[in-house]
Amino acid sequence: MEGRDPLEHTSLYQRAESEDSDTEGGLGNVNKMIIRPPGHSGKAKKGHICFDASFETGNLGRVDLISEFEYDLFIRPDTCNPRLRLWFNFTVDNVKTDQRVVFNIVNISKSANLFRNGLTPLVKSSSRSKWQRIPREQVFYYKSAQHQNHYVLSFAFSFDREEDVYQFALTYPYSYSRYLAHLDNLCTRLTCTKRETLATSIQKRKVELVTITSNLEDVQDRARRVVVVLARIHPGESPSSFVCQGLMDFLVSSHPIAQVLRSYVVFKIVPMLNPDGVFLGNYRSTLMGADLNRSWNKISEWLHPALVAIKPMLKNLDKSSRTPLDCVLDLHAHTNATGLFVYGNTYDDVYRYERHIVLPKLLAQHAEDYEIGNTMYNQDPHKAGTARRYLCSILKEQVNCYSIEVSMYGYNRKSMPGVFPYTEEGYYRLGRNLARVFLEYYKLMGIIPAGLPDQPSTKRTRQSRPRHRVLREPRPKTSRKPAPIHLASIHE
Ligand SMILES: [Zn+2]
Repeated sequence: MEGRDPLEHTSLYQRAESEDSDTEGGLGNVNKMIIRPPGHSGKAKKGHICFDASFETGNLGRVDLISEFEYDLFIRPDTCNPRLRLWFNFTVDNVKTDQRVVFNIVNISKSANLFRNGLTPLVKSSSRSKWQRIPREQVFYYKSAQHQNHYVLSFAFSFDREEDVYQFALTYPYSYSRYLAHLDNLCTRLTCTKRETLATSIQKRKVELVTITSNLEDVQDRARRVVVVLARIHPGESPSSFVCQGLMDFLVSSHPIAQVLRSYVVFKIVPMLNPDGVFLGNYRSTLMGADLNRSWNKISEWLHPALVAIKPMLKNLDKSSRTPLDCVLDLHAHTNATGLFVYGNTYDDVYRYERHIVLPKLLAQHAEDYEIGNTMYNQDPHKAGTARRYLCSILKEQVNCYSIEVSMYGYNRKSMPGVFPYTEEGYYRLGRNLARVFLEYYKLMGIIPAGLPDQPSTKRTRQSRPRHRVLREPRPKTSRKPAPIHLASIHE
């Protein structure tokens, strides 16, 4: 039985036809599937809830009604890779007010995950568009005797508004469309950004490269260093997109640190390496079921178009002596550890190793969420296909390659017990912190002069606040009601 999937015997692999689901042609996501009680036929009533995952980044493969309140939910495995099942993202509607349900997610493939540490799913609804975590008291992660002792995630939920569409997800989704829209917006700053299509995925989506630096026309005007940032090679690791966006938004901003960084550093950013996997709602794989971060050492022309394009780009950047490639960061989200941390390499050359650990050490000093205990430097053979391992073997010795990992859940704070969950803003902030760390790093390396930026930080200190607040006229009272949200917008 070694290596066999524990759920292979279940009917997940022999899906029954259902009149309500799209079993043919689609990905196997449920498509507006109404769950009726046994024996009920005809028009669905309120409370016969309707499940849907047939949208961008959606994932829900099957729903079984267990009792009046209880539903077994099956994650749709990654395309062409049935062993990978963790990302889920689906909507529920046609509910009754005060209807209570228990959802059991029964086929998670990786039992060692952050649900053991208190991670809970996210929920929002069409009238409340901000994601919220389901309270811990309503969430259970346990070995279930009813499910062949497989680990099951169960959560109880009470619907409160009949007209709402509710959406549940593993963590904050960040779709392919959102990435395109962000780049459209970012790259209106023509003086410091350049946008190119590096590759086209198998399903014809764009793998893009954004270059951020000042004086784009003539980067040879002074010696600069090149930093390459890769993100979203694993589609279910959406936090890495928020980190990447936070970094890019900061780098193009008018913040004094950003201005200095643009003058001395060229940032080459590939924000979405696996757009098909992201679009499809996969957890780790491409359309063809490949884990791109285990494929760098066996790149195939037709299976890995993104890697085929990025490898020569890196080799080219590595050739320049005036603007040398310095560093490659590969952004990931971790499903089984808390905080921010780094996976790096070990080297027999002790000086090389010492240079390699400088950047992570600075990150540890500048990010309150950094967890040194999770940081690891190794040379395991089974990680030979990762970016950080493979790229350091083909690039010059001074180039440092790291995986930057951020928890899908939260981080531990020194002052307070318990895990403090990340929000979307927390992930953006992490991206901004990366930029600040590059300033410190290049000052330490003597690339950026010590006095820069000239202006002190714009962070307001206690003393710099005005002593006397300006009195404001009270605002006229208005009747407040939530802004109407179109149902179609719920997925993002
Ligand atoms: Zn990853």
